[in-house]
Amino acid sequence: MDWHASLIRKVIGPAWATWEGSRYLHHYRHLLRTQYEGPEQVHARQWKGLKRLLRHAYETVPFYRDRLDRAGLTPEEVRKFDDFRRLPVLTKEDLRQHGGTLLSRAYALRELHRKTTSGSTGVSVEVWVDDPSMQWKRACTLRSDEWSGWRFGEPVAKVWGNPEYLKRGWRGRLRNALLERAHYLDTLKMDEAALARFARDLQAMPPSLLFGHAHSVYLLAEYLRARGIKPPRPRGIITTAMVLHTWQRKSIEQVFDCKVTNRYGCEEVSLIACECERHEGLHVNADGVYVEVLCDGRPAGPGEAGSVIVTDLTNRAMPILRYQVGDVAVVAGQRCGCGRGLPLLERIEGREADYVVTPAGELISGISLTENFAVQVPGIAQLQIVQESVSRFVFRIVRSPAFGQESLGEIERLVRVRFGPAVRYDCEYVERIPQEPSGKYRFCISQVPTPFTHQQEIPVG
Ligand SMILES: [Zn+2]
Repeated sequence: MDWHASLIRKVIGPAWATWEGSRYLHHYRHLLRTQYEGPEQVHARQWKGLKRLLRHAYETVPFYRDRLDRAGLTPEEVRKFDDFRRLPVLTKEDLRQHGGTLLSRAYALRELHRKTTSGSTGVSVEVWVDDPSMQWKRACTLRSDEWSGWRFGEPVAKVWGNPEYLKRGWRGRLRNALLERAHYLDTLKMDEAALARFARDLQAMPPSLLFGHAHSVYLLAEYLRARGIKPPRPRGIITTAMVLHTWQRKSIEQVFDCKVTNRYGCEEVSLIACECERHEGLHVNADGVYVEVLCDGRPAGPGEAGSVIVTDLTNRAMPILRYQVGDVAVVAGQRCGCGRGLPLLERIEGREADYVVTPAGELISGISLTENFAVQVPGIAQLQIVQESVSRFVFRIVRSPAFGQESLGEIERLVRVRFGPAVRYDCEYVERIPQEPSGKYRFCISQVPTPFTHQQEIPVG
C-alpha cells in the first residue's frame, strides 16, 4: 500500500469523517465484522429492520398510512415476509406523483439530501435521503468496493459522466486530492483526444481501481487494445450502472489483466448488489436493502428471472417500500463459495423495458439478444436493437472492416429464427451508439409493453 493510502486509512479518512460528523467508517468496520454471518442471522436482521421501518412509515408517512389502510393491513399484522408482500409495489409513477406525501413528517426537508434520476422515460424522479442513511449507504458501498481487491485510500480512475467533485468548487478539489484520489474520464466527452489523454494518465499514475459504466470501461479497453497500449494492472475493476455483457467482461479482463467486479444499484436506493472476490453472482446488500425478485407476482425460484423489488432499510426520511426498480434479475441456485451469508443473485438480466416481445408472444431478454447478434454476425463492432412495434425492428450497427454481405445474410437468418417470418427490419449504420442523457448506453430498447412492465398491475398477495 502506498504511503498516501495508509495515511488516508489511518488519519485523513477518520479526521475528515469527524469533521463532517459522519459515522460511515464506524459503520464500515461493523459491516466488515458481520459480512460472514450466516443466512439466518442476515434474515433475522433484515426482518427486524423491516418491521421497524414499516411501523415508522405507517406512523409518520401519509402515503403509507393510506396504502396500508387500503390494503387492510396494520404493521402489527405483518408477521412474516409473505405478509409484507401484500403491500402493493411502489412504482416510479408513484414516486413522481406522490413525492410530497412520501416524506416522513419526522424530518425537515432542509436537513435532507436530494437525489434525482432521469430514467429512460425522461420522467424525473426525486428521492430525499436522511443523513444517517447516507452515512450507512456510504459504508455499505465502501465494503463491497473493497471486494474488488482495491483498498480504501488507494487511487481510483473513473470512467464516468459529470465528475461530482467539480461541482463543489475548491472544497471538492481539495477533498478529491486528499481523500478520494479519483481521476476522471468524462463519459459525456469521450472522444479520441480524451481517451488518448486518459490512457497516458493511466500509465503515469497507475490507479489501484478502475471504475465506471460497463460499456464505457469496455470502450476504453478496446481503445487501448486497438492501439497496442498495455495499461498497468489495477488491483480491481468495478463496473456498474448498466448490464455487463459477457463479451465486454472478457475484453476488459484481457486488456487490464484483472477480474471485473460487477455491481448493481440505482440512484433511488444506492447499492443493491455486488460481486465478491469469487465472482459467483452478486451478493445482495442485505444490510442496506431487502430485495424481492418477483415473477408473476410470486417470488422467483432459483435460476428464474423476475422483476427486482427493493425496500430501502435505512432511509427513514422518505421510506422506499417495495419499489419496482424496473430491472430483471435471476435468483442464484446456490450459495457463494466465499462463505458470506448475504443472499445471492445469479445475474442482472437488464431492464424490464429491454425485453423484446415476438409476434408469437415470446419474451427475449435484450441482453441475450444483443449478445447473440454480436457474436453470430461477423463485422459488428457495436449494436443497438430497437423494437418499434411487435413486428418492426431497427438495428443500429457500428461496422468493423469485416462487415459485408455475409453479415447481412446472417442478420436476416437470425431475425427469422428469433422473431419469425412476419417481422420487418432496417439496418442503420452509425459511427457510435448514442448515449442516454445520463451518459449510459442501452443496447436493446423495446417500445412494446411486456408482462414485466405491467408487473404493478398484477394483484399481489
Ligand atoms: Zn461471495
